[in-house]
Amino acid sequence: MAIGGGRVLAAGTLADIEGLTGRGTRRLILGPDRVVLPGLTDAHLHLADTALASRRVDLEAAATLNDGLALVAAAHGRLADLDAWLEGSGWDPWRWGRWPTAADLRAAAPDRRVALWSHDHHALWASERTLREMGATGDTVDPPGGAIRRAPDGTPDGCFQETATERVVRLISPPTPQLLDEAIEALARELLGLGVVAVHDPGELAADRTLSGAIRACRMLAERGRLAIRVHVSVRAAGLGAAIEAGLRTGASLGTGEHADRARMGWLKLFADGSLGSGTAALIEPYEGGPGYRGVTDDVMRGAADRSSARNGGDGRGVVVTPRAELRRLVERAANAGIAGQIHAIGDAALGVALDVLGPVCGRTVAMPRVEHVQFATRRDLGRFGPAGIAASVQPIHLRSDVDKARVAWGVRAEANAFPLRGLLDAGTVVAFGTDAPVEPIDPWPGIEIAATRLSSQWVDRRPFGAAEAISLEQAIRAAALGPAVVAGEHDRGRLNGGHRADFIVVPANALIEPVEAGGPLGSVRPDLVAVDGEIAFEA
Ligand SMILES: [Zn+2]
Repeated sequence: MAIGGGRVLAAGTLADIEGLTGRGTRRLILGPDRVVLPGLTDAHLHLADTALASRRVDLEAAATLNDGLALVAAAHGRLADLDAWLEGSGWDPWRWGRWPTAADLRAAAPDRRVALWSHDHHALWASERTLREMGATGDTVDPPGGAIRRAPDGTPDGCFQETATERVVRLISPPTPQLLDEAIEALARELLGLGVVAVHDPGELAADRTLSGAIRACRMLAERGRLAIRVHVSVRAAGLGAAIEAGLRTGASLGTGEHADRARMGWLKLFADGSLGSGTAALIEPYEGGPGYRGVTDDVMRGAADRSSARNGGDGRGVVVTPRAELRRLVERAANAGIAGQIHAIGDAALGVALDVLGPVCGRTVAMPRVEHVQFATRRDLGRFGPAGIAASVQPIHLRSDVDKARVAWGVRAEANAFPLRGLLDAGTVVAFGTDAPVEPIDPWPGIEIAATRLSSQWVDRRPFGAAEAISLEQAIRAAALGPAVVAGEHDRGRLNGGHRADFIVVPANALIEPVEAGGPLGSVRPDLVAVDGEIAFEA
């Protein structure tokens, strides 16, 4: 491969490229045990939240509520300022056997403002002081598309679901620009070390702000030549007006200067439904649920699904977070301004709505309209992506954490219809992989592994899940490298042919062996070398 001006000049035999060398040519001779691949793009990574995650409490490793409270107590002790917020994430009512409450936090973080996201970031656990400052009482009603969990007497008990979380988020002061800039700059370098050269940021998890802080930060970093990777940053509904006013079109550079083309405008990110873990994904047929799942009470699944769906007919089918007509209106308005839509849809009912809404705007923007997650789909809907020109943005690593939830919540339907990777590809869909960090770790390789194996070495029950939906290693790497570039309308990225951007990684060949083994070398592979725009950006 010969590289010049940031692009691949030619790829082939040594004889093909020898004529392109000159005096100043630097030669890299790789051994036969090394393979060059296009650099990976994470098509779904929340940039600001992932960058700031290390400064927050991480409850993922807390096996019980008491373990979690010990971590909260330690974080409380480290915060000298009595008015500082204690933020974090990673608790899971499935893991803890019940939903936590504000009262649980009383001893661990007395009189502290606390806001802790659940593992799936669809619920927020607040302290009594937070509830007080929100003015949340028994008279507070559930907002459209959201639910407030309550004590038997009707008073809010500390957990807020879906759109109800915005009421807590509004109170929390955003990070300072300098803190965010430094955190994103550092995260970009960390991603390079994993072979990730680009990211699609679907916006802040707790988006209630006019324009994402990441847009400002990435524009600034790109202009100063401090952005080591490429980013597409999306806006949420609240930021659409501001984005249109600022003339931000999907694919357009956010700034000027040395790395101007590294920071680009992404999509308009909307939500059709909630999540599997919270029982708020919108389904065609009701949740199965049921007792006996490792001691998880009915409250965890059925309570959440029933309560939150009460406003949607009370039929246990999850939550419609944004009504169809509203999705249509927003997607249309964005498309008229050159901004493509991306709709979060986890349940099969939500997916049908997302495809209906995105279909009519296809072909009107540089990038493809896309559905995020696609965790549960009917066969009929799988066939609708390709012909319409809608892309599927899937995070196969969710399967590792959510396999038990899928089996309980979706029953026998799960194995056939959940995480339908082969079904999507067989129907001609453009598939783009991501991690959904910070919901899952930023390492892309375990997701590539599980897409090919449908099995995780972390599972107690070592039985593949929906084995018929496994894809080949080549298909998985395409979804991690080429798919996101196609979705973004970057026709000069994701391949290493002549004329394409020289974004590439060098990895050990022994990691790329089929059949892929769960817990084998692929899931923990690290590149020796990473180049962006033909420049070596990382070297082990
Ligand atoms: Zn996400």
